[in-house]
Amino acid sequence: MPGRQLSEDSRFNFRCHAALKCFNQCCRNLNLFLYPYDVVRLKNYLNIDSDAFISQYVDVVLRPGAHFPDVLLRMAEDTEKRCPFLTDKGCSVYPERPDTCRRFPVEQGLIYDDQGQPGGAVHFFKPPDFCLGQKEDTEWTIAAWTQDQEAATYNRMTERWAALRRLFLSNPWQGEGPDGARAKMAFMATYNIDRFRQFLFNSSFLKRYKIKPDLKKKLKHNDTALLRFGFDWVKLYLWGIKTKSIRAPLK
Ligand code: SF4
Ligand code: SF4
Repeated sequence: MPGRQLSEDSRFNFRCHAALKCFNQCCRNLNLFLYPYDVVRLKNYLNIDSDAFISQYVDVVLRPGAHFPDVLLRMAEDTEKRCPFLTDKGCSVYPERPDTCRRFPVEQGLIYDDQGQPGGAVHFFKPPDFCLGQKEDTEWTIAAWTQDQEAATYNRMTERWAALRRLFLSNPWQGEGPDGARAKMAFMATYNIDRFRQFLFNSSFLKRYKIKPDLKKKLKHNDTALLRFGFDWVKLYLWGIKTKSIRAPLK
């Protein structure tokens, strides 16, 4: 990856504020990947459901050879290609901004060994050349930046998602292809969480699978718990991977 690799103790300079000439320049013409937890936080902040958020704000892109689509925030279709949440005063969803915006100008990668075991994170300091924030005096370590940006929960949820996402390196669709019923279920359980809740509570799902009563209660109202459950469900549904939250069908 381009950029300067940061160790735990490395320091980098950064401060973003409205007095800089580059203010608002970075929030346009982006390939901004949204992760499932980003969608949960944004749709709740905007007070709409996940279905409406997906149709209004995202592009779902299946790249050739991929087995699961990327979800990107849809930029404006004019020449500036501005982020839909950008205003003259800055980001209108700042308290709930996506993980990528929160970590910026740091990018994080996760390492897995040949056996698929996680081997920790790597970080790169990677502001674009025009970003004047990197010339400011304020110094950060990764830990201090994570705390300042209230990014710890986002980081944890993105790591969970990354662990599931890498399973899609192999084809799980059993001949149905990426437009089949199994793929639609996997997308719903990870990105369209309000639809997934309707499915859980309005079908025979909860009669067929064994789920602890206190978790069942949580799934009704707690989107983060539902998303974690959705990840576990996809693992079981597509690859038969068992987790603590859900047991195989009751006989
Ligand atoms: S380019 Fe850098 S300093 Fe300028 S607004 Fe964006 S993040 Fe802030
Ligand atoms: S969500 Fe906010 S911070 Fe992220 S690109 Fe859009 S306006 Fe900028």
